[in-house]
Amino acid sequence: MVHVLLIEDDAAIRTALSRALTERGHAVSSSPTAMGGLHQVMGSRPDVVVLDLGLPDVDGCELLRMLRAVSATPVVVASARDAESEIVKALNAGADDYVIKPFGAEQLEARIRAVLRRGGAPAEEYQGIEVGGLRVDVGAREATLDGVPLELSPREFDLLHYLAARRAAGVAAPRVATG
Ligand code: CA
Repeated sequence: MVHVLLIEDDAAIRTALSRALTERGHAVSSSPTAMGGLHQVMGSRPDVVVLDLGLPDVDGCELLRMLRAVSATPVVVASARDAESEIVKALNAGADDYVIKPFGAEQLEARIRAVLRRGGAPAEEYQGIEVGGLRVDVGAREATLDGVPLELSPREFDLLHYLAARRAAGVAAPRVATG
């Protein structure tokens, strides 16, 4: 099941899309404002965000830039703005895809599936780092070695996460003095 967060201020569109995506087996949450949506991205970590651009509090492109600073969650922009310059602006701001209103739920769902395929694993798994037998779950702040949970202080966890991320990225870890 895919968790879709819909950020859309038009109540009729919000209701219709929520219903259509729910009927197709997805978990849908929604926000009528940009900042409410940003809170939900951080709090409930959806798999994909469907984002309207004309929002009452903050423009969707501005929200995209904020979101991209803190999250890699795929974003499909859904907007009536059909000018090439608007589409380019949204893609440059970090959108993964762009669908022009009006569109059918079937097209939106296909685009959601496509960005999830490109993005790989859903949000929860995306947070995990594995190096050898070590697994660091950044979201849950838990680490296991060969499946056995490690008891770490927050500072130890941060250090381990830092080292594991560097190893996973192929960067040589700095020497750490051990006693
Ligand atoms: Ca709107």
